[in-house]
Amino acid sequence: MNYLRITFAVALTACLGGTAGEALSAPTLLRGGKVLVGDGSVVANADVLIEGDRFAFVGAHEQKDAPADAIVVDVAGKTIIPGLIAAHAHIGQVDGLENGSPNYTRTNILRQLRQYEAYGVTTLGSLGLNAPLFYELRDKLHAGELPGADVYGADRGIGVVDGAPPAGAVKVGEEQLDRPATPEAARAAVRASKERGADLIKIWVDDFRGSLPVKMSPEIYAAVIDEAHAQGLRVASHVYYLEDAKRLAKLNVDVLAHAVRDQPLDAELIKLLNDNGIIYIPTIGVDESAYIYADRPDWMSSDFFQHALQPALREQFDSDGWREGILANRKLADSRKAVVMNQQNALALHRAGVRLGFGSDSGANPLRIPGFAEHRELQLLCEAGMTPLEALQTATVNAAAALGLDDRGAIAAGKLADFVILDADPTDDVQNFQSIESVWHRGKKVSGAVEQFQP
Ligand SMILES: [Zn+2]
Repeated sequence: MNYLRITFAVALTACLGGTAGEALSAPTLLRGGKVLVGDGSVVANADVLIEGDRFAFVGAHEQKDAPADAIVVDVAGKTIIPGLIAAHAHIGQVDGLENGSPNYTRTNILRQLRQYEAYGVTTLGSLGLNAPLFYELRDKLHAGELPGADVYGADRGIGVVDGAPPAGAVKVGEEQLDRPATPEAARAAVRASKERGADLIKIWVDDFRGSLPVKMSPEIYAAVIDEAHAQGLRVASHVYYLEDAKRLAKLNVDVLAHAVRDQPLDAELIKLLNDNGIIYIPTIGVDESAYIYADRPDWMSSDFFQHALQPALREQFDSDGWREGILANRKLADSRKAVVMNQQNALALHRAGVRLGFGSDSGANPLRIPGFAEHRELQLLCEAGMTPLEALQTATVNAAAALGLDDRGAIAAGKLADFVILDADPTDDVQNFQSIESVWHRGKKVSGAVEQFQP
């Protein structure tokens, strides 16, 4: 092989020479790293060739000649993982401590998408509550005309009159949520979503632990799923109770976007999920976020965590009054139990061969911190008993499948070159997913260590 060989430092200088994300004219060859492909396999001492926005070759070193003009980047000792895919997230809901429709702005959403990307999350599924602005931003992000994580979305989403999602907590505008009263109205809402350009459909089947007077009726969600499938759209459902999960699975819902948390799941649900190829996203961090920041674990002082915080949120976490208020809430015991139940159920499903997807419902409220929440979710999956490699698969190949995408999610020839270079190997320790050296999106380096990022 006689292509140009330059040092890692020189290559980085070359990458950073232009504005962030500027195209490199030559192909890039990442040499000597350990590649965690995303499908559970590993390539040691790998050559990863990037041409344009895609991987052109991924394999053992010197299996294949690289183009003579390739820029060679020495990544020996480093680990390369696919960009993470958060298949259950929300954009434009939160800014600082505020939650509500005024936050669905271009500036705020692009700020969030840059944060996701800096933390290695290169694609999001925004599962509902999207305003019309979503489509303008999505199309530009798809085209690479805006910086930040790429997005797919479930349009407004379909909720319940006087029910979920609770209007008190989810303060969205009229253009951000449908609450159809009849199966016919539900079908019409699905068709309207499709016309606006929805990538999938979201429904809320829950009463938020009995706090809402009604749940979506089976007639309505059956109509939604049937109509969505007729329109070629996948359906992701918010869920909590085992019985609802079974009814949804029997109707061939595509994704359960939360975990079953009311009781241990059983063989019937496992069979339904496996038989129908339904992807289950545990979102363990949803319940944990209710108490973990008041618990003040040591990692809250880490740079990795602190750089994910907007100033108002940092102040809140530092406030003893806020902390005492949270810890005094008796419902916290339920949240702690839900995390344990969730982890047990997720591991049981995983061991039974059900495909787990990935997401933390980040961006839905101020405590679900973009980018950080996804790293915390990887840790919670490992704490549940998965290996780091298995957790990574949920967040890459499986999460791509949850969103119906086959052009990303793995470090493999032909896939979009969205990836993260890590200084340390997460197969040794899940913590090492946080050792981000750089993030690359569509074949271009877009950011370095998170310590260089300010929200
Ligand atoms: Zn959600």
